[in-house]
Amino acid sequence: MNDTLGRPLRNLRLSVTDRCNLRCEYCMPEDDYVWLPREDVLHFEETSALVDVFLSLGVDKIRLTGGEPLLRRDVAALVQMIAAKPGLKDLALTTNGVLLADQIDALKAAGLARITVSLDTLYPDRFLKLTRVDQLEAVHAGIAAASRVFGRLKIDTVVIRGVNDDELIPLIEYGRAVNGEIRFIEYMDVGGASRWSPERVVSRQDMLDALARHYGVIVPIDEPASSAPANRYALEDGTTFGIIASTTDPFCRTCDRSRLTADGMWYLCLYATRGVDLRAPLRAGVPVDELQALVSGGWGARADRGAEDRLALGDRRAFVPVQDLLRKDPHLEMHTRGG
Ligand code: SAM
Repeated sequence: MNDTLGRPLRNLRLSVTDRCNLRCEYCMPEDDYVWLPREDVLHFEETSALVDVFLSLGVDKIRLTGGEPLLRRDVAALVQMIAAKPGLKDLALTTNGVLLADQIDALKAAGLARITVSLDTLYPDRFLKLTRVDQLEAVHAGIAAASRVFGRLKIDTVVIRGVNDDELIPLIEYGRAVNGEIRFIEYMDVGGASRWSPERVVSRQDMLDALARHYGVIVPIDEPASSAPANRYALEDGTTFGIIASTTDPFCRTCDRSRLTADGMWYLCLYATRGVDLRAPLRAGVPVDELQALVSGGWGARADRGAEDRLALGDRRAFVPVQDLLRKDPHLEMHTRGG
C-alpha cells in the first residue's frame, strides 16, 4: 500500500485519549480545551477492530500516545489486545512518565515492547514552569521503573531556545545513567504550540555544534533503510543519541506514519486539517472490506508533506492564526491526534 509519493502505510500512532495531566507550554498550555465528547471515544473493542483493518493493509508498527495515554483507564488491557495480533512487529508507547511507575509492570505483562518517556528538563523549578505541575520526581520514578523493567528506553526532549537549550549535555549524561537514549526534538509549530516562533527553535546543527564543543567528535550512525524521524549519533565513548529535525529538515519524504484519534478520526499528516472519519462507518456496522477500502483509498491518494509546506512558508508561519480554528475543532490539536 503506497501513497502518491511511494510512501508505504506502515506506522500507526494510536491516540487513546485527548486528556493530559501536564500543561506543557509548547503543546497544550491552556487550562481547558474543547474535549472530545466522551461518547465518541472508541471502546477498546472498536479500536482493536480498526487496528485489524490497518494491519491487514500493511501497518506493522503501532505507538500508543495521546494526550497522556496512561490516563486512559486500564490502557494495559488495550495493549494486551493489540500485542497479540499477527503481523504486528512493534508496539510502543509514549508517555510523560508521571503515572508510569505504577503501570509499568502491567504494561510489560500485557506485551508492550518499547517505551518512550518525554522529559524536557532536569530542574524541578523549570519543570514546574514548563508543565505547570510539580511532578518531576514522579517522572524520574517512571523512568527508573522503565529502565528496570524494559532494560532500556528512549527519552524525548523538545529543545526550546531560552528554556532548556542549556541542558543538552546534562540530559545526555542523565540518559546514560538510566540507560535511556535521548532524542532531541526541534520545536515544531504544531496545533497548540501557540507560543512558537522561529527564534525559539534550536536547529539540529546548533545542537550538534554545542555537543561537539563539549564531547569532541560526534559520529553520525548510518541507518539507510530506516524511516525513523531521528538521525542518530554516537559519542566517542559509544553513547548514542538522536535528533529529530522536524522543523529545519522535515522527514516528509519518508514519512510512513498516520494517526488515529481516540474518537476514530484518521489523519494522514500531523499538519492535516482534515481527517477520515472511521468511527461512523465502524459504528454503523459496515463490512470490514468497506473499512479497508476507506483506508486504502485514503492512503492511495495521500500527497501530504505538511512539515515541508510549513518550512516553505518561512517566518510567515508564526503568524498563521490557528487559535480560532483550534478552539472550534479539537482534532487540530497535537494532544488530540497524538504527538
Ligand atoms: N503525553 C505523552 C508525552 O508527553 O510523551 C504523549 C503525547 S505528546 C503530544 C508526544 C510528544 O510530542 C512528546 O514527546 C512531546 O514533547 C511532543 N511535542 C508536543 N508538542 C510539541 C512541539 N510543539 N514540538 C515538538 N514536539 C512536541
